[in-house]
Parts: sequence; structure tokens; C-alpha cells
Amino acid sequence: MNMNELAFLVAEDHDFQRRTLVRILQNMGVKTVYEAADGRSALEIFRDPGRQVDIIISDLDMPEMDGMEFIRHVGEAGVQASLILSSALERTLIASVETMTRAYGINLLGAVDKPVTAKKLASLVGAYRPAGVRTKRAPMEQMPLAEIDEGIAAGQFEPFLQPKVGMDNAKVTGAEALVRWRHPERGLIPPAAFIPALEENDRIDELTWVVLDRTAQTVRKWQDSGRINGHTVSVNLSLKTLNDPKVADHITECVRRHGVAANRIVLEITETAAMTDVAHCLENLSRLRMKGFGLSIDDFGTGYSSMQQLARVPYTELKIDQSFVMGAASEARLRVMLESSMQLADKLGLTVVAEGVETHDDWKLLQQLGCHKAQGYFIARPMPAEEFLDWAEQWAPPR
Ligand code: C2E
Ligand code: CA
Ligand code: CA
Repeated sequence: MNMNELAFLVAEDHDFQRRTLVRILQNMGVKTVYEAADGRSALEIFRDPGRQVDIIISDLDMPEMDGMEFIRHVGEAGVQASLILSSALERTLIASVETMTRAYGINLLGAVDKPVTAKKLASLVGAYRPAGVRTKRAPMEQMPLAEIDEGIAAGQFEPFLQPKVGMDNAKVTGAEALVRWRHPERGLIPPAAFIPALEENDRIDELTWVVLDRTAQTVRKWQDSGRINGHTVSVNLSLKTLNDPKVADHITECVRRHGVAANRIVLEITETAAMTDVAHCLENLSRLRMKGFGLSIDDFGTGYSSMQQLARVPYTELKIDQSFVMGAASEARLRVMLESSMQLADKLGLTVVAEGVETHDDWKLLQQLGCHKAQGYFIARPMPAEEFLDWAEQWAPPR
């Protein structure tokens, strides 16, 4: 990335410090630097459609509108800008703002303590990648419920499969089923456009049955083909589904109907909201485990009370959230989170799966740390179920 192609916005109330920062940037070869003395004027510049900002450098403690509020507005605008925090405040406070920033889906390059120097700034700016290369977690517009209904009735929803591979021998161990809507006019629609709508309207179960049924069918085909053996497929279960005490039996029947053993299926559970009906959920989970299903705690590290859940649910697998995996090779803090999750899983005798492995560096780090399985774009993107066997047979482990 060429420095003279990047536009910066510097939000800093202290005149001398702001001018110093601007000068440092100019010495680094930057041509476009906008300046603001508080969050409000920074926001005006940011929102001006005539000015495109690539990197924001923002102080936290500013009059009128402080850095936290400014960051919130930037996050809610859903615009692809990267952020560097500059602050003289204590480390733990900056760390919590960092977490907040990431939760808004903003690409945080890091924090620099004051006084800011060219050297400190250069290493953070060096991590900048243009928008489009990055992933964003902004909320997505939901498809209308009536249209989703029609799609389900017409059989337009199908699970794609994303491979999971062992890290010690790089053998394919199975896949995760990730639902896609093959819309006749709009093409492939991702789950983010319909799962929240279904969950809010208590209609997620209909989709769960479609995915589970098609997944069991696929596993049965694999068995019959004799081409791969002993592979498991993970299916995502919404916590809401588990409120109905009959669900464990439905799941068991569905899988049995296809002549598939329960231990070929892993159920991934994400804690997106607190367990509403703890007793029913635990009854279902215990029964599913008793029948032989694998149980995975999904998005580990992001939930409300992951630790509490771990203590009471008979999990077999821990899936580390991608936010701790992406870029772990170059970020010490993420590495610490990975290490301690791994130790925890080890003590509890759980299989550890890292999701969101995008680079060879992250793959190598996870391997070193003793992670059991990996899933991510570095290995393969989710693919139509029919393509999986061919893919698995040609997969060559990274060296
Ligand atoms: P999840 O369970 O955390 O699934 C992982 C998501 O990360 C998938 O997004 C996958 O495509 C994506 N992913 C995998 N590897 C990488 C990577 O290396 N880099 C990046 N940037 N992303 C990666 P997808 O398919 O869009 O699914 C989103 C979420 O929708 C899932 O998150 C899951 O919570 C939900 N979902 C998907 N299928 C179902 C389903 O059948 N039932 C329910 N209840 N939820 C589902
Ligand atoms: Ca999952
Ligand atoms: Ca996840």
C-alpha cells in the first residue's frame, strides 16, 4: 500500500499534538490528512461524501463528543474505515475500547500511546488492508418472512459444507453444514439475511429440520459410496430450538430414519442470548449426548456466559470463535486467548476446533499450540454438498 494513496482523519483536541501527528504523517508520505479537534467535527468530515477516509486516528478523551461516542457513530454508519486509537489513558481502558470497536465491526489497526512517534505509527499503518479484503460484521438487511416461507416450501434452502481438517496429519475429518438459500432471482443468499428474521419470529425450527434432514441424507450417501469413512458433519442448532423438550427425540428420529449413527453428527450450539429455559435445554442436551451426538460449544469466547455453560453442558467439542483466530500469528493478545482456551479444553477433555483460519501463518501457530482441528478459507470455503467428496479426495495438506 502506497502512503500517498491513503487519506487520514486525525481527531485530537490538543493543538500541538494534532499538528505533530499531521507532520509525522506528511513525513511518511501521506498527501491527504483531515483534522478535527473533537468527535463532532470529525464526524462531519467522516460523513462528507466528498471526502473518502481510509484511516482514522482518534484520541479518546476529547471535549463535546469524546472518542467513544465518535467510534460508535462510525460503527453505526457501517462504513469501511480503519481505526488507530491514540491515547494517554491506561492500558485496561484502551483494551475495553478496543473490544467495543471490534464489536461495531470497525477494522481496528491498534492503539498507540502518547507521545505518538513515526515508528509506532508506521507499524500500525503497515497492517492496513483496503476494504473488500476485510470482513465486516454489520447487520444485514433481512429478507421478508413471507418470502422466506415460500423459499422453504419450494425447497430452495440447502446446506453447503465447509471442510474441517485435523491439524496433526491434515486429514479431512468432516464438515460443517452452513445453510444457503438458492433464490431463483437473487442467487445465493447467506444465512445472515434470513436467520435473525426466523429466530425473532420463532420460526427457526423449520429451517433446522431442512438442514438436518439434508445433512443426514448426505452422510448416508457418503457411507454408501464407500469413498470416505468415519467423517462427521456439524449442524448448527439455535438455542431457541432447545426450549422444546421433544427436540432431542425429533433429532434422533430424523438421523435414524436415514440409517446414520448419532456419532456422525455434531450439534453446534451458539449462545446468542441467555438460555431462557435452562431446564428444557439441559434435558435436551443431556439426552442428545446420551444418544451419541457430539455437542460443540460454538463461537467460544463471545457468549454471555460461556464458562458457565461449559460447566453444566456435556460438551465434546469447543469451537474457538474466529475473532480470536484471524491474525493470531501477528497479535500477542489473541495468541494468549488461544492458549488459554486450548488449556481449558485440554483439561476438560474437549476437542478444539479453530474456525476462521485464513492464512498459513495462523495455521502454523494453531498447529504449534496443539489445536486439534481447523476450519476456514485457508482450507476451503463452504461448497455445495455434491462437491465435497471430490474436494476431500484432492485436498493436499499445507507444508
Ligand atoms: P458460524 O456457525 O460461526 O459459522 C461460521 C461462519 O464463518 C460461516 O458463515 C462461514 O462461512 C464463515 N467462515 C468460515 N471460515 C471462514 C474464514 O476463514 N474467514 C471468514 N471471514 N469467514 C469464515 P455463514 O455460512 O455465513 O454462516 C453464518 C452463521 O449463520 C453461522 O455462523 C451460524 O451461526 C449461522 N448458520 C448457518 N447455517 C445455519 C443453520 O443451518 N442453522 C442455524 N441455526 N444457524 C446457521
Ligand atoms: Ca457453527
Ligand atoms: Ca463462529
